[in-house]
Amino acid sequence: KLYNQVQDLKGNIRVYCRVRPFLPRQSSSMSTVGHIDDGNIMIITPSKYGKGHKSFSFNKVFGPFATQEEVFSDTQPLIRSVLDGYNVCIFAYGQTGAGKTYTMSGPKELTEESFGVNYRALNDLFHISNQRKETFCYEIAVQMIEIYNEQVRDLLTNDGPQKRYPFVKILLLLFFIPLLVNTLDIHNSSQKGLAVPNANLVPVTSTTEVIELMNIGQKNRAVSATAMNDRSSRSHSCLTIHVQGRDLASGAVLRGCMHLVDLAGSERVNKSEAKGDRLKEAQHINKSLSALGDVISALAQKSSHIPYRNSKLTQLLQDSLGGQAKTLMFVHISPEADAISETLSTLKFAERVA
Ligand code: ADP
Ligand code: MG
Repeated sequence: KLYNQVQDLKGNIRVYCRVRPFLPRQSSSMSTVGHIDDGNIMIITPSKYGKGHKSFSFNKVFGPFATQEEVFSDTQPLIRSVLDGYNVCIFAYGQTGAGKTYTMSGPKELTEESFGVNYRALNDLFHISNQRKETFCYEIAVQMIEIYNEQVRDLLTNDGPQKRYPFVKILLLLFFIPLLVNTLDIHNSSQKGLAVPNANLVPVTSTTEVIELMNIGQKNRAVSATAMNDRSSRSHSCLTIHVQGRDLASGAVLRGCMHLVDLAGSERVNKSEAKGDRLKEAQHINKSLSALGDVISALAQKSSHIPYRNSKLTQLLQDSLGGQAKTLMFVHISPEADAISETLSTLKFAERVA
């Protein structure tokens, strides 16, 4: 309740900043991050970027020693509001290597302590729905998609139609070449609030099941990384958790959904180096990240026109951005001196939406 009051005062958009620690194998050079307190961060800039330091303010700043648990506990009330029928979006923004995937999922070698927001969120949802089982009956289901070059792909197609109906699929392929890459269309939302109604929606009842699904999703992402070695940094991935709760006394049904979005790396590519596919990718990423920034800042300013239609990402999330929906943006920065220009542009992006 208290949290909702705070939300009402501040609007439904929050921005948290997280600073990655130096990595073990790095020689820990000087950090560009100076003083941090609850909501402020000071960046130490080399002379060519101005006076020597710049300060930025957010709803919260997590320093390099913040644990996954600490980060999650601040996010928990937002996540729980899904059970009360709210739509929630949580984004991870930042240059490649700044810690987006670490925040959302955790490191490669997962331990219980290092679980990211997505596992913890689902765990928490299962836990609370279990606590409320005398009064509510909850169903939880997940979708996982990827947006790459403005095309949407289902990441949960383990035994998709191509295995069950190979012949039909081949015929379809002949006529609809786009199906080859399993791309999906975004339709206007159906009654369930699914922006991508034809992406697999998988019911889940335990965290173990979720971990298995995420592994499938990760594998599907990896499979598509053909010539380009790290596609995951150039696509947005979105885990959507749908929650439906039925009040056992009145029969009333509440629906909420939460999107956990690990965005493509925000770094700008050098125009002289990028050509062909790489340049096209960069342009798509640029366009969709700035479209996202435009939507969130229009919402923050309570503008009458919200430009949802400028990218697949904002189209997809339209029902969960704005109105009663709640949005949280984690912006990630790297502490290294050679990341300073990306760090400053990340913080400027974040300040615009805050
Ligand atoms: P991104 O997804 O933004 O490209 P990653 O999440 O993959 O970045 O992080 C890059 C590396 O830094 C990974 O090895 C990751 O485990 C590590 N890392 C990121 N954030 C943290 C953190 N807060 N604490 C410890 N290690 C981190
Ligand atoms: Mg990543």
